[in-house]
Amino acid sequence: MRELLILNYHEILPKSSAAYTTPAELFAISRERFQAQMDLIEKHPFPVISIDDFLSSASFEGKAIALTFDDGYESDVEIAAPILQKKGFPAAFFPIINQLGKEGFMDWGQIQDLHKQGFEIGTHGLSHRDISRLNFAEKKHEIEKAKELSEQYLNQEINLFSFPFGRYDKASLSLAQSCGFQAALGTRTRLNKQPQAFLLHRWNIKRALPLEQFEKIISFDRNTLNRKIFLGQIKTGVTSVLGASLSNQIHLLLAHLTQPK
Ligand SMILES: [Zn+2]
Repeated sequence: MRELLILNYHEILPKSSAAYTTPAELFAISRERFQAQMDLIEKHPFPVISIDDFLSSASFEGKAIALTFDDGYESDVEIAAPILQKKGFPAAFFPIINQLGKEGFMDWGQIQDLHKQGFEIGTHGLSHRDISRLNFAEKKHEIEKAKELSEQYLNQEINLFSFPFGRYDKASLSLAQSCGFQAALGTRTRLNKQPQAFLLHRWNIKRALPLEQFEKIISFDRNTLNRKIFLGQIKTGVTSVLGASLSNQIHLLLAHLTQPK
């Protein structure tokens, strides 16, 4: 059986912080927690492979893990990349083009560095809008222009697209495919079983995820995976009714109500 579990990260904070103030912080985890998670992956038998390995390897067998980083936070270069390098873990980074060089975000030079270190570089679109809600011309612009600009700056082909908020529709998927991406990545909590599939699913790693739960996920504990996949299906349904941004606001409110004082 082939199964690829893709974990998706966002910002890595230098220190731990319990309080949330913005929806983005739901996904920001501390350096210490990130290190502990990578240590757990190293301890378990399932290898970390690159997305490219998964897509190109017809002979891929068994279970494996891949790591991705959305939004292009500077902390991904400064904190995450050195930890990944030490472990020899591949990863793919998906910057938002219009955020590049802004405070707290990578610039093109840092992306080039990541690429030289052997990491995969994809794109997360131009301006981080929910592409499923845009008209056709806007969708096309967000997807195609992001590919074109990334390729110009990095002087290499960009093969991976990750959808902002993990949101897509039929038209955005076929646009991503027709403009030459080899895979598009969403954020549904599902395992990837087919290297040939164009759409890949990723598990967003949130700050509130306890380390014991993380360990069960990366050790492919069947009960934990099935429960998370089931809950993920409910969340996808809620998000498609409410839209990504309202759904994140509600999520933030719930996190506020339940976080330890
Ligand atoms: Zn994003």
